[in-house]
Amino acid sequence: MTIRRTKIVATLGPSSSSEEMLSRLISAGVNVVRLNFSHGTAEEHIARANIVRSIALKLNRPIGVLCDLQGPKIRIGKFATGKITLKTGDVFMLDANCVLGDQDHVGLDYKELPNEVEEGTILLLDDGRITMQVDRVLSSKIYCVVLSGGVLSNNKGINKQGGGLSAEALTEKDKQDIKTAVALEADYVAISFPREAADIHLARKLVLEAGGNAGIIAKIERAEAIDAAEEIILASDAIMVARGDLGVEVGDAAVPGLQKRLINMARIHHKPVITATQMMESMIYNPIPTRAEVSDVANAILDGTDAVMLSAETAAGQYPLETVQAVHRVAVAAEKEYFTRFDSRISRNEFNASDESIAMATIYIAQRLKVKAIATLTQSGNTAHWLAQKDNMALIYALSPDRVARRKLTLYRSVFPFPIEQEGKNRDEILHEMEEVLLKEKVVEHGDRVIFTFGEPIGHPGGTNTMKVVEIGQSTAS
Ligand code: PGA
Ligand code: MN
Repeated sequence: MTIRRTKIVATLGPSSSSEEMLSRLISAGVNVVRLNFSHGTAEEHIARANIVRSIALKLNRPIGVLCDLQGPKIRIGKFATGKITLKTGDVFMLDANCVLGDQDHVGLDYKELPNEVEEGTILLLDDGRITMQVDRVLSSKIYCVVLSGGVLSNNKGINKQGGGLSAEALTEKDKQDIKTAVALEADYVAISFPREAADIHLARKLVLEAGGNAGIIAKIERAEAIDAAEEIILASDAIMVARGDLGVEVGDAAVPGLQKRLINMARIHHKPVITATQMMESMIYNPIPTRAEVSDVANAILDGTDAVMLSAETAAGQYPLETVQAVHRVAVAAEKEYFTRFDSRISRNEFNASDESIAMATIYIAQRLKVKAIATLTQSGNTAHWLAQKDNMALIYALSPDRVARRKLTLYRSVFPFPIEQEGKNRDEILHEMEEVLLKEKVVEHGDRVIFTFGEPIGHPGGTNTMKVVEIGQSTAS
């Protein structure tokens, strides 16, 4: 397959859970699967993760597993008839104490909502398809006037325009789901609606307490998270530009600008970023994307995103395979137009460790000396993390004996993890093995110039302290 730097995250659901379809999606280029904890049971998620792992083993491909927690998504209750139709100008009541809704009112799963809205507040239901304005609040009842009507069905989400709801980022369900995520050895856990860095720290603590080591992804989807973006990014291992809820809270028009700002900010702090939601939306029903969707995916890549995420397209759509193929095709083409030079002035002035230092020096050389690639021997994946700099145009082959480290690197743009056997080998034998892996994977040929990084003595995590410019076939020749 043509080299694609951008990573594809695919949400699993009814359209993509059979072993056969999953194999096809992974063969077509999915790098990370997303298990959406807003739907399904713990058993279903565990079963899906197991199938993914066995396919990954069979196809000899590293596949990351991302568990996306539901978070405090505020939802209305159910209707006696399943759904109602609201007309513009209708009076409608949201009532925290209502059990079964009808044409006049419906219940709320978040009982605090009446205390957090006031006259004039705009509420957006079902991702903004229906809007209503609060007229008055009487104890548990919120009286609203419908500004824009439509069909409203059971359990649709509610957002408050401008943000400002105080619901905790981690619900009791999320805390249980973290245990499930750890049990299925999630590589990443995504936190929905975090407001501040403390939400991320808490999630990390819970993952560690449960015995896991998943990276924490902050979904930026609340108005408040924009103001706190820097501290949230610093606290997280990666972020997601969650355009669905974000667009509802801040208005759709603000999203493209925020996408660029967030991608840039994340990458300056060396954190991978996923651009998510409605990327190929029409492919839920059609085998080809619209021009606008093709442009959207390409533009996210030109903005510098590490990964593009598919939601309903692969979870519930009619054309999951065609969607992944389309993203692959669009990404490969867009990457050809991405030209940038690493600006050493934006690198940090002081480095904390030798692996970061070697990585920066490697990037410096890679953009001045013609090299085919960088190959990094990495135990923990750390050196690959530092090499995956915004604006490093070199391909990065991360050779690691650690399966878990390889899976974490599936999210990083331009990083390609491969296994390497180093047990019982001395330094020269390992350098030789690095060449062998690259040759076997057909990513280099004899005579290609490659930069190797490794740590001496070989085999200790975090120990990268050496860089070597080699010509394939001669790495150990003296
Ligand atoms: P969700 O998050 O799909 O879990 O809502 C993504 C988004 O809001 O864009
Ligand atoms: Mn969301």
